[in-house]
Amino acid sequence: MHSRSSRNAALALCVAAAGAACSRPARLAADLVVTHANVWTGDAARPSAAAVAVVGDRIVDVGSADDVERWRGPATTVVDAGGRRLLPGFNDAHVHFVEGGRQLENVDLKDAGSAAEFARRIAERARTRPGQWILGGEWDDQRWSPAEPPTRALVDDRTNGTPVFVTRYDLHMALANSAALGRAGITERTENPPGGEIVRDARGMPTGVLKDAAMDLVRRVIPQMTADERMHAVRRALEHAASLGVTSVQDMNASYDDLAVYAELGNRGELTARIYAAPLATGWYDQAKLGIRRSFGSPWLRIGAIKGFADGSLGSTTAFLFEPYADAPATRGMLSDEMRDVSQMRNRLMAADHAGLQLCIHAVGDAAVSQVLDVFGAIVQANGERDRRFRIEHAQHVAPKDFDRFAELRTIASVQPYQAIDDGRWVEKRIGHDRIKSTYAFRTLLDHHVTLALGTDWTVAPLDPMLTLYAAATRATLDGRNPDGWLPEQKLTIVEAVSAYTIGSAFAEFQEREKGTIARGKLADMVILSDDIFSIPPASIKDVKVLATIVGGRIVHQRNP
Ligand SMILES: [Zn+2]
Repeated sequence: MHSRSSRNAALALCVAAAGAACSRPARLAADLVVTHANVWTGDAARPSAAAVAVVGDRIVDVGSADDVERWRGPATTVVDAGGRRLLPGFNDAHVHFVEGGRQLENVDLKDAGSAAEFARRIAERARTRPGQWILGGEWDDQRWSPAEPPTRALVDDRTNGTPVFVTRYDLHMALANSAALGRAGITERTENPPGGEIVRDARGMPTGVLKDAAMDLVRRVIPQMTADERMHAVRRALEHAASLGVTSVQDMNASYDDLAVYAELGNRGELTARIYAAPLATGWYDQAKLGIRRSFGSPWLRIGAIKGFADGSLGSTTAFLFEPYADAPATRGMLSDEMRDVSQMRNRLMAADHAGLQLCIHAVGDAAVSQVLDVFGAIVQANGERDRRFRIEHAQHVAPKDFDRFAELRTIASVQPYQAIDDGRWVEKRIGHDRIKSTYAFRTLLDHHVTLALGTDWTVAPLDPMLTLYAAATRATLDGRNPDGWLPEQKLTIVEAVSAYTIGSAFAEFQEREKGTIARGKLADMVILSDDIFSIPPASIKDVKVLATIVGGRIVHQRNP
């Protein structure tokens, strides 16, 4: 793939005297033409094409290479896609963007194969960014010989005053160096907190390893992100998104500090993904009092949604179920703090809906989903019918009786297929054979005409859309035990998955007229892929790369095949 452009954006406009006809038809040259592409438009009126012309940030023409050729002017950037597959850009309907960017910043110890390599990577980080907390990790001492947890002595000499707090991959253990222990006030005299242990050597001195609740002693002294760090994290996240073909993200639980950074980057013209942010539902009035409604803002940054929580997660047995957990019969999970008093939750969401805000509610367990649908039903009763697009985030376990109601309330299922192949390793053990049939039930939801919006919940799952498409189409669990698919009857076709990831997600943020397909008048958000995901075996999709990402007509990522 190659592109070329010349200096000026030229407008080849015909200038005519008032009322007089032009000798040539008025014509605008394109700023960008992508040609020789295998375009999947997602637009039923014209499902495929070979070329796209863009003026400014909008698509002005979609057609054959010849059709679009007439848009080429002297200053037009031309991208020859070499016959490769072009799609609308991916719209991740559920991310934690700042957290994601921050994670990219962390030191990566996942594949450190020895204690020496572990120490080397930490030392390198301390050298390049002295004084800044070194976080992250995911180290695994079982890969080392001897297979023993690290000690602060291993890194102290090479980190000096730079505090280190790196966690084991299971998050039940962390190593703190002496600088971090010092800031937390942990000495040989510090007692173990309930539910935690400060590991000590033969002389009774802390080794630096902290287990479970003892990790909180350090966590609480790690400073909040500064504005600069937040800006840096967002930039990293934007780069990462561009490299993966993610052109829009829907940022859940966004803080006002996050919004300030997005706005600042937006003002500078530096956003390379479009952001729809949903701050926490408990603060709904902050938006409502300003008269902000669903999907308020610019094509780059919009607010007007709120994110609430009905329950927890299956992994921590806090997803709220109708029946007890199969492997923990004493519990059926629990409602979240904000949902425990259901009438209070109902009142809050009803008021937010009345103010015109969009409701995005996290519900994982079947009983939580059911109760959220109850609340949604009550809201429609009280506030009347309108195009409000309720969302349930995750919707992992839906009781068979609730699929119809899900559809009737026109609730969008904002789902993360990668979690099906991740959790699919152990879900059956946790909830039993019968209940898994309506778990991550993407096919059943579609069959009931529920709109799906696809996403990742990054950082919970990788941001890479190829992994999500692979997961949706194969349902091959990460442990390799279900090569033909875990609950294969719930697989999506690639076309269904791509549709849900583009126009489905756009619909979920009230932007289906602006983006989600390749059509005249829409925002020019597109990706060119290394391989044609519609014709290769679904198992190969996870290896497909994004060769170009175009957002608003601007090429924000390019790589060689
Ligand atoms: Zn989330």
